[in-house]
Amino acid sequence: MNLNTKQRAFNKAMTQYHDNKNYQKIYKLVSILNVGMQMYLFILLFTFSIEWYIFFLILFISYFITDFVNGYVHMYMDNNDRYDSMVGPFIASFHLHHRTPEYKNFSIVRIYFNESGPKFWLVPFLILTVILSLFSVSEYILLTLILVGILSSVAEVSHFLCHNSNSKVVLFLQKMNLLLSMKHHDNHHEKDNQSYAFLNGMSDFLLDRIASKLYRGYKENSDLHANGYVGVGTDNRDKL
Ligand SMILES: [Zn+2]
Ligand SMILES: [Zn+2]
Repeated sequence: MNLNTKQRAFNKAMTQYHDNKNYQKIYKLVSILNVGMQMYLFILLFTFSIEWYIFFLILFISYFITDFVNGYVHMYMDNNDRYDSMVGPFIASFHLHHRTPEYKNFSIVRIYFNESGPKFWLVPFLILTVILSLFSVSEYILLTLILVGILSSVAEVSHFLCHNSNSKVVLFLQKMNLLLSMKHHDNHHEKDNQSYAFLNGMSDFLLDRIASKLYRGYKENSDLHANGYVGVGTDNRDKL
């Protein structure tokens, strides 16, 4: 399909995205489901009896899994150009981040809630974790699933802070490699088909290899489709 056809399909998807309020309602519903289940699972953590050093080991493993899984979804979305599919308006709006990297400023809590909205895959993941929590599953496995489930939303906040914050605390956490630094994430925006991870970027060495095998990159593909768009510059999830 040529570039003009793709750009037309992109524009049509964005018009649908802005005209049909149901897309925002779906984001809001997904946010409520994700954050609601995360709160339940977070409270459940206090009933666990795990040694502190095992907790930190599982936290490290969960950090890596979260960074990788969310980076993988990001890679899939950046290289997805099915604007005329049922979920086309969600795909098109996702691509606008490359054109307008800075977010609108809101409180961290609101960003956490809003950015949990496009995480459709997280809903079945958290439902499964909640179901498993009702059975006598190993606390180690349950802890890993809960941490991945919560850190997946934290990853979105980490990405937001990387673009929007210069606070000393954030810069310190970035320096400690607990959050994503701009220095690391710049690769994603400046170069092509790399550095998709966005919790702290620790799994990018693996994601970069997978990306080079699976995809041609976004600079000459999805970014060009979005460049033809003349409507609202940013995604409007923040208008919920
Ligand atoms: Zn991207
Ligand atoms: Zn970014």
